[in-house]
Amino acid sequence: MKKLGIVLSLLFLCTMVGFTVNKQSSSARISISKIRRQCSTERKARKYMKKITFKVWDYRGSKKVTKIKSIYVHKRVAKKYKKAFYKIYKGKEKFPIHDVGGYNWRGSNHSLHSLGLAVDINSNENYLIDKGRIMAGSLWKPRKNPYSIPKRGDVVKAMRKYGFKQCLWGSRRDYMHFSIGGY
Ligand SMILES: [Zn+2]
Repeated sequence: MKKLGIVLSLLFLCTMVGFTVNKQSSSARISISKIRRQCSTERKARKYMKKITFKVWDYRGSKKVTKIKSIYVHKRVAKKYKKAFYKIYKGKEKFPIHDVGGYNWRGSNHSLHSLGLAVDINSNENYLIDKGRIMAGSLWKPRKNPYSIPKRGDVVKAMRKYGFKQCLWGSRRDYMHFSIGGY
């Protein structure tokens, strides 16, 4: 009887795990590996990119004003990124954005930027560090530097709402970077 109980609970667990995985893949409906196959070269990748234009806040002197930014992203995520930036713009923080990057062919289709599936926000103030070494940008001082992205602030929340995760894996902290896969 004990064995049967274990088998049954294992079966239950597997079903739950399967269910969760299915649920995630159907809601995301974006296959990064498929997009990677389609965007195998720079010339091919460009065909899938779409320009999005959106409002942001930024400083003019000490005053925050509206500015317009444009980036290229993969057409499958264009609407979602546009909505995420709109939500950031409408947020209470009026989070200032002075530089933003999207599609950027980086020599191969390995980087999600080469696929237009990642964006970088205020790269200098939201550095990429790995094992304590700065790899890109120069600082990250949320609440002190207005361009640094606070942990649970408007930017993180808006991006998460539309399915984009900040790239924070183990020792790798890429504070500027939001993508479909979170890497
Ligand atoms: Zn990035």
